[in-house]
Order: sequence, then C-alpha cells, then structure tokens
Amino acid sequence: MPEPASDAPPSVLISEAAIGRRVEELARQISRDYAGAGELVLIGVLRGAFVFLADLSRRLTVPCRVDFVALSSYGHGSTSGGAVRLVMDLRLNIAGNHVLVVEDIVDSGHTLAYLVAILQARHPASLKTCVLTRKAGRLETDVALDYVGFDIPDRWVVGYGLDYSDRFRTLPYIGVL
Ligand code: 5GP
Ligand code: MG
Repeated sequence: MPEPASDAPPSVLISEAAIGRRVEELARQISRDYAGAGELVLIGVLRGAFVFLADLSRRLTVPCRVDFVALSSYGHGSTSGGAVRLVMDLRLNIAGNHVLVVEDIVDSGHTLAYLVAILQARHPASLKTCVLTRKAGRLETDVALDYVGFDIPDRWVVGYGLDYSDRFRTLPYIGVL
C-alpha cells in the first residue's frame, strides 16, 4: 500500500548549513553583547528549543548556566490564542542574573509574552529573548525580540526541534509539510 502523502519528508525551507551559519552569527553577537557581564542564564523553552539551545550555547564564549521551562497552550490549535500555562518551572533562581530566553519560534508572541512576564517578576538583572524563527507579520503582542534568527512565511514549520504532533523534531533542517 502506498504511504500517505503526509509521510513524505518535509521540503527544505532553511537548510542545515544556513541554520549553522546563522546560529554562529547569533552566538557571536550575543557573546559580544554580554562580554564582561558575568554569567548568563540561558532558559530554553521545551520542547521545541532544545536543539537550538544546544547548538547556540556551545558556540557562546561567555560563561553560561542552562535551565528549562515547559509551556503549554490550552486547546490544540496551531497557535496559542493567548492562553498559556507553565507546566514545568525553572530550577534556578534567576534574581539578579542576566537571563536570555531561547525559543524556537514566535508566531502571535503570546507564549513568549507570558513567559517574559513570569520571569520579569523574579527580578533578573536583565532579561532578553532570542528566537530562531519569527513568522512575518504575525506578532500580536509587544514582546521584545532581541535576537531573531530568521523571518519565515506563515507556514507550519518542522525540524530542528519543531514538531508536528511530536514528529520531525530531529530533522537537521527546517522544513514545511
Ligand atoms: P505564539 O504564542 O507565538 O502564537 O506561538 C508560539 C508557539 O506555537 C511556539 O512555541 C510553538 O510551540 C507553536 N508554533 C507556532 N508556529 C509553529 C510552527 O510553524 N511550527 C511548530 N512546530 N510550532 C509552531
Ligand atoms: Mg516553543
């Protein structure tokens, strides 16, 4: 029996090589911006950001600690629609620390805005955001995006940590179904 079309490999939107080059550029910029500032706490948003965080963090030249949060959107639409909850909190106390949130993708921005509000209330010394991909023209919040890897079209993207129903996260490139 032929495979259903949905099992075809996603077509490449951003190649592994292009991701590598951009992650290297972001790491250089972040390392420059935080040079001499002391330790940086990287906060990865599970699960999608695990690949980006692993690659980015190993290219930073500033001392780092790494922690994670897990967020969940209510319902199961393709966007968060503004209702988000924290399903796993940090282990680190971030008060007085320089914090960089590392996220895979920003669409409406509600997910990131929710997380930034939670973290800001814990009084970090500074709080910035780094997102690998941003869907062009979709932002509905005024959340600050300090470092952005790629602007992408409004398509469902997978790979490099991003999933469709928990599949495709381990693809080395970013693709569209
Ligand atoms: P926002 O709250 O910015 O609307 O949505 C952000 C969240 O929606 C992301 O953290 C991610 O979980 C999910 N998301 C939005 N667009 C995509 C996409 O194209 N692919 C994947 N895999 N997740 C997406
Ligand atoms: Mg995410």
